[in-house]
Amino acid sequence: MARYTDPVCRICRREGLKLFLKGSRCFSKKCAFERRSTPPGMNTQRRRKVSEYGIQLREKQKVRRSYSVLEKQFRNYFEKADQRTGMTGENLLRLLEMRLDNVVFRMGFARSRAEARQLVTHGHFSVNGRPTNIPSFSAKVGDRIEVRESRRGRLIFQVAVETMKAAQIPAWVSVDPSKLSGSVLAEPLREQMPLEFNEQLVVEYYSR
Ligand code: SF4
Repeated sequence: MARYTDPVCRICRREGLKLFLKGSRCFSKKCAFERRSTPPGMNTQRRRKVSEYGIQLREKQKVRRSYSVLEKQFRNYFEKADQRTGMTGENLLRLLEMRLDNVVFRMGFARSRAEARQLVTHGHFSVNGRPTNIPSFSAKVGDRIEVRESRRGRLIFQVAVETMKAAQIPAWVSVDPSKLSGSVLAEPLREQMPLEFNEQLVVEYYSR
């Protein structure tokens, strides 16, 4: 399974905003973006006119990297979103939000999507009672996601209970920290998905 392995803080600096890819570090003084917000590889911020294509490309990269999806898979998501009824950009974000690693993150089991992805790949979760270790697994409305019985005693999940209690859980999922479980109540509405993304620019990028 291919994945991005270079330093992730470079991504925030490249995209010019905090994408919160490293859990608690993102909220501390150690955040690389707080310390230096210029794009990587440059000593000074260069002022130059960015083309329309450049703006669309940066937005596409920002969305793609926020969900830690590689280019080919992201394009597949776009094509799937385009085939659905409704707004393609919104459909795209919805497909990304329904990925199992993102749902685990939204439920508060992990402090970042990267951490959620690791928990999923290590086989700690089951969906509707079936062990599932595929981060890109697409959750459906009504799915019950929980930490597998055999893994519940682990320290990481004792910490997760506190994370879940403190997390801002979106209305489209419900969680039960005492049972280390949660359910998908609905597909997220646009206002329940990240507002910092301009998905229309992503659609324009792929529609060139
Ligand atoms: Fe981005 Fe988090 Fe790294 Fe800060 S610590 S640069 S928010 S990944």
